[in-house]
Amino acid sequence: MAVTPQTKLANVVGDKTAKAFERSFGIVTVGDLLRHYPRRYAARGDLTDLSALTVDEHVTVVARVDHVKEYPFRPKGGGRPGGTNVRTEVVVTDGTGELVLTFFRQPWIAKRLSPGTVGMFAGKVNAFRGRKQLLHPEVRQADSEDEARDRAEEFASQILPIYPATQAVSSWTVERTVGLVLDSLDVADDPLPEPVRREHGFVDLATALHGIHRPHEDRDYEEARRRLRYEEAFVLQATLAVRRRVLAQAAATRRPYVPGGLRDRFEAQLPFALTDGQREVVAQIAADLDRDKPMQRLLQGEVGSGKTVVALLAMLQVVDDGGQAVMLAPTEVLAQQHYRSMVAMLGPMAEAGMLGSAEAATRVRLLTGSLGKKARQEALLDAQTGEAGIVVGTHALLEDRVGFAELGLVVVDEQHRFGVEQRAALTAKADDAPHLLVMTATPIPRTVAMTVFGDLDTSTLRELPRGRQPIQSTVVPAAEKPAWLDRTWERIREEVEQGRQAYVVCPRIGDDAEEADEAPPLDDEAETRPLTSVVALHDLLRDGPLAGLRLGLLHGRLPAEEKDTGMRAFAAGEVDVLVATTVIEVGVDVPNATAMVIMDADRFGVSQLHQLRGRVGRGAHAGLCLLVTGAPVGSLARERLDAVAATADGFALSRLDVEMRREGDVLGVRQSGVRSSLRLLSVVRDEDVIATARDDAAAVVAADPSLVAHPALAAAVRELEDSTQADYLEKT
Ligand code: ADP
Ligand code: MG
Repeated sequence: MAVTPQTKLANVVGDKTAKAFERSFGIVTVGDLLRHYPRRYAARGDLTDLSALTVDEHVTVVARVDHVKEYPFRPKGGGRPGGTNVRTEVVVTDGTGELVLTFFRQPWIAKRLSPGTVGMFAGKVNAFRGRKQLLHPEVRQADSEDEARDRAEEFASQILPIYPATQAVSSWTVERTVGLVLDSLDVADDPLPEPVRREHGFVDLATALHGIHRPHEDRDYEEARRRLRYEEAFVLQATLAVRRRVLAQAAATRRPYVPGGLRDRFEAQLPFALTDGQREVVAQIAADLDRDKPMQRLLQGEVGSGKTVVALLAMLQVVDDGGQAVMLAPTEVLAQQHYRSMVAMLGPMAEAGMLGSAEAATRVRLLTGSLGKKARQEALLDAQTGEAGIVVGTHALLEDRVGFAELGLVVVDEQHRFGVEQRAALTAKADDAPHLLVMTATPIPRTVAMTVFGDLDTSTLRELPRGRQPIQSTVVPAAEKPAWLDRTWERIREEVEQGRQAYVVCPRIGDDAEEADEAPPLDDEAETRPLTSVVALHDLLRDGPLAGLRLGLLHGRLPAEEKDTGMRAFAAGEVDVLVATTVIEVGVDVPNATAMVIMDADRFGVSQLHQLRGRVGRGAHAGLCLLVTGAPVGSLARERLDAVAATADGFALSRLDVEMRREGDVLGVRQSGVRSSLRLLSVVRDEDVIATARDDAAAVVAADPSLVAHPALAAAVRELEDSTQADYLEKT
């Protein structure tokens, strides 16, 4: 029977194996299996390097048995030692090192693996009494010594695919199953059009799949990878090209600038002058809004570069034209802050319907998940009827029942927290395609922008408003220099004595096992160190180093109302030191806060640290950021912190971040549909491939917009759209 990529794996192998594949790798179809590529290839030489084994790694080694020992043991539940109650230790070697293979209750192993036998062994490396061992490894070995010698020769010449493996599914099981599938595979269509293949000299899909899984020579998998890597970029770019086309056909309502409207009046009463950069971006946006095609703009700007006021001016331009604008923020704290500052900045201009309101005033509404029933109803009603010109909120805005009378502009703040899908859910709430402005303080490398945000125009705010204060950052190695930590708390006291305020940021809330706000470890080494809990530290500081100061506590598990009151009290200067989790990470703006202490700073990523410290130095006084860590000198974590302390340039840090982070993280947590489609392509390294694929895909889509002549490509595009859609559905 011929199998196709759509065939269910369960029709090819037994149910049990099929289940193991699904649980281990999410592999359900033959197509999924064929895209489970070998992680690397091994000839005997590099297979057998026993000196380079790492604990917890699944490995496959070829080695010769050196000696075997049997240790009878007395079973726990009673019974006599000996017989089957025996532990067998097989020591194998390859000349570079030794490895112990341990088997319990398999007395026949000693005979099977007699000294001199050459075999392949696969399992997970663990350390036992200071020696590296594989417990119950899979064994593949010849029956006779002659054959063993032959097999060893064969191994030596053969290129062996080494697959990502788990306890349940070994590399060999994958190899065997893939072999089964390849023997009867029928690949009808190739998602890469023939002319594209010819132009770049790519092998066709069937050749590529054979080449990557069953290479005869190095060239086979090299050629296969080159083509399959390109294919990933091509399918992604074709998907984006199709999206772009759909968008380009969408009609938007023009929202021309109205002189003397709310936008002008708001700008006139700002307590500061816009920077040149802000002015330029405001003009770009104003021109975009005046077109009958929906604006698709990404605004990148360093932390504190003043993106919010730019967004507000854009929103007011739309309101002046009778449209509504909505701003989506990633956290309640941030949504509330935006809401409060908008209401404050707009003053009577935001008091439509109230006595003393300004002429042509509008209304600003807040919509979050934790809103009381009455407030929610009012907000929903005002959005629905168009009374509210501006609605600010969190994910709650994405719900179906939220509707607008005339949605003209969608602003997404801190885009890196959202995916393409959330954007789509909001824009779907307008009859005509609304204009879209997404903002991020995490500068996105060009390749990532091309890959994930390929459909956006980009503006950048490079300068900070004049008078922005420098932030001095210092690493506090708490383990090596405990006195520095004491000094840290003294510094906080000094700041408070001068009338300023401070943040203390912790990576976790309390002592429970499950923690919503907890920062996951970035390196294996960090895993073993206990994390500072915000609750415990708050109490400790209150009773110790910071006794007598007014401390506040803020974390994600507090009721929304308490979060809001806590944040307000801090903003109003009623709290000196706010001990918090990363709920304050993005956007929070309290100009009188000058100092920040970040506990277990090694648990945060480079960009995240930069975001966090962007909370200080926002007013008239210089900022101070103390990065407390237990990470030892010379560790990766420590290097990262030193880099953050050494530069304040967000763009430089973002490049560093991309280099230091693992590939998947670059695309962001919410981009997993896209992420899982990228197996060979690296958005960090493969800039050229992505650029070429983008041009090729654009040409193919332009010539055949609905891809009728390219059924396999159309199917691949649909599959990618479906998987990103599925991500979105899962997350709401
Ligand atoms: P971000 O780009 O990080 O979102 P914000 O929009 O929160 O930055 O702006 C940070 C602070 O700078 C706010 O208090 C804002 O009022 C202020 N600000 C914005 N533009 C200017 C300007 N041109 N001059 C002085 N201060 C400004
Ligand atoms: Mg902001």
